[in-house]
Amino acid sequence: MCGLVGYIGKNLSRAYILQGLTRLEYRGYDSAGFACLSPVDHRLIYLKVPGQLHNLIKQFEEKPIDGYVGIGHTRWSTHGVASLENAHPQFDCNKTLSIAHNGIIENFHELKTALIEQGHIFHSQTDTEVVAHLFESLLATRVTLKSALLSLVNQLEGAYAIVAIMQDQPDNMLVIRKGSPLCLGIGNEEMFAASDLLAFADSTNKVLFLPDKSFALVRKDAIELY
Ligand code: GLU
Repeated sequence: MCGLVGYIGKNLSRAYILQGLTRLEYRGYDSAGFACLSPVDHRLIYLKVPGQLHNLIKQFEEKPIDGYVGIGHTRWSTHGVASLENAHPQFDCNKTLSIAHNGIIENFHELKTALIEQGHIFHSQTDTEVVAHLFESLLATRVTLKSALLSLVNQLEGAYAIVAIMQDQPDNMLVIRKGSPLCLGIGNEEMFAASDLLAFADSTNKVLFLPDKSFALVRKDAIELY
């Protein structure tokens, strides 16, 4: 279990994400993190900490990052201790894509071994980091984002809800679901993603429960569901 929140839209995301994570803190509390794309140049920027959400909130006093697309996570670890490196979001080699995950990737060990052979460098003990590197590798060889996502979901075994953002896709937030809960909130030129609709209940009452075994490209005004 863990708390997963995402936002894309006309407003800065951090306040929504922290409010959502606060409401979902019952789902996980051994570390917390936030990543967003810089409003200036779409660079991926992030902050994460071991321990409870209030530690993360305090860190923003020193590093007040924010962006119009962002994701957040409170972790309840299954693979790897509660530490800074294992906190989500997790990243690819170049830190251009960022992933927050609820669940377990059962075949992470074999995927990780193959990715290390391809030259990927890992920084955490989590099963989640494998998703970021596998996606990076698929994006390098697939023609479209959709075909890379299709290949990704075909290779991942286990249960997962994933929200992801990418530096070169500033207009899209990616959501993927198999087994773990994930819903989208549809606002006015803004979209929310969360493990539980409680996270964005103040902002919209239009909710799409993502069907099991689906993924979507979420823009501020449209959802492309597959
Ligand atoms: N399996 C992942 C991890 O240990 C996600 C755990 C969770 O759902 O919080 O980092």
